[in-house]
Amino acid sequence: MAIERTREEVAATPDERYMREALKEAEQSLRSKDRPVGVIIVHQDHVIARAHHQVKLLRDPTAHAAIIAITQAANALQSDQIPEATVYITQEPCAMCVGAILLSGATRLVFGATDSKRGACGSVIDLTRNEQLNRRLVVVRDVLAGDCHALLRKATAGVHTEI
Ligand SMILES: [Zn+2]
Repeated sequence: MAIERTREEVAATPDERYMREALKEAEQSLRSKDRPVGVIIVHQDHVIARAHHQVKLLRDPTAHAAIIAITQAANALQSDQIPEATVYITQEPCAMCVGAILLSGATRLVFGATDSKRGACGSVIDLTRNEQLNRRLVVVRDVLAGDCHALLRKATAGVHTEI
């Protein structure tokens, strides 16, 4: 069966293609009225983890997409570190999630929409540039930011998703 690809998909950069995957994951949060945030973790061109926010679904304030995905990724690599991994997340991660990403040893963080309320990559604080932390992380921002913001707006326009 032929798979039709839009011009957008063909022209997309690898970061954009993986961010599209993260967006698909984020949409799943809408079912439980969770904030639509999705994460994909890529290691050596393989997706080793995918997760979405499940705070309301699990009644767990720490069930953010990045935390769930990092656990999956570590399990996939059978290690407590995920070196050379890239974390794709549709919204700028919070302090807890940036902390976990730094602890995981991931090399790159790519995010879409900024988060003016709790973003920890520069919007509220910037944990990724703290010289005193002994971890270094390459941060790429604003990848498919328009689509990521649109999905978040869709959730707030819909029903009582806590943003
Ligand atoms: Zn978080």
